Amino acid sequence: LLFGPVWSRRFGWSLGVNQFPEKLCTYSCPYCQLGSGKVTLQTLRLCDAREFHKELMELKADYDVITFVPKGEPLLDTEIWKCADIAKIVAGKTTVLLTNGSLLFDTEIRFNASRFDIVSLKVDAGSESVWKRVNAPHRDLTFEKVIEGMKLFAHTFEGKLVTETMLIKGINDDEESLKEIAYMIKEIRPSVAFIMVPTRPPMLPVMPGDLKLATKVLTDILGEIVVPISDRSFNSYPKNERSLKEIAKVHPVPKKLFEDVPKECSVVVFEGQEFVRC
Ligand code: SF4
Repeated sequence: LLFGPVWSRRFGWSLGVNQFPEKLCTYSCPYCQLGSGKVTLQTLRLCDAREFHKELMELKADYDVITFVPKGEPLLDTEIWKCADIAKIVAGKTTVLLTNGSLLFDTEIRFNASRFDIVSLKVDAGSESVWKRVNAPHRDLTFEKVIEGMKLFAHTFEGKLVTETMLIKGINDDEESLKEIAYMIKEIRPSVAFIMVPTRPPMLPVMPGDLKLATKVLTDILGEIVVPISDRSFNSYPKNERSLKEIAKVHPVPKKLFEDVPKECSVVVFEGQEFVRC
């Protein structure tokens, strides 16, 4: 269940939690670093609280936060809140949830998300047409419903709320799309609005969007809460190959860090650099 700790561009040293056996998501974003997988709205009981507790007790590592960043959309797991509670009580650490927010229209799922200290919502689009291209949602989701759910959550959540926006060239990085994104974020009122471009191999051959223009357009509308992230440093991974393989299940790892690429993993190339995806 646990992997890392790895250096997170947003949260510092982060112990990762991946309770998903395969990629399961409500979206199929072309830029997804996890590769292809099942697009579903079917919730499952995945996080085994007993196992999670055991792994946490046995772990000997230093880290700042525990981040639930499984292979897919974390809120598809209806048991996630139990593991979040254990993380807080047993480890006494800040818990972070990275979600695409698409299921927050459901009351129970909003409750599950509210158990975390920090929640990051994905806001890649401010209009239905861009949303369909940049996030390729499950066919039964509607933009209206997803946005309504995110706003409802944002207005009741008592922890720290942030947003993250992935910029893709030719899809959501033109001035009009950026303005729509900014106004959408304004309604959600996060304390920080991260904007970033892909730095690891995407599922489809998309290109990084215009971070400079996005920083200007979003800052003009949202002010200093906008934080662009362009960091590409990959020098903070653990040395042992078993840990690297666990990370590579959710987070392609530079191939040069492996002595031998595990048989069940594949090598993918992005911007001239080889990565291992497991
Ligand atoms: S980027 Fe996130 S939301 Fe998009 S398909 Fe991948 S896991 Fe799902």
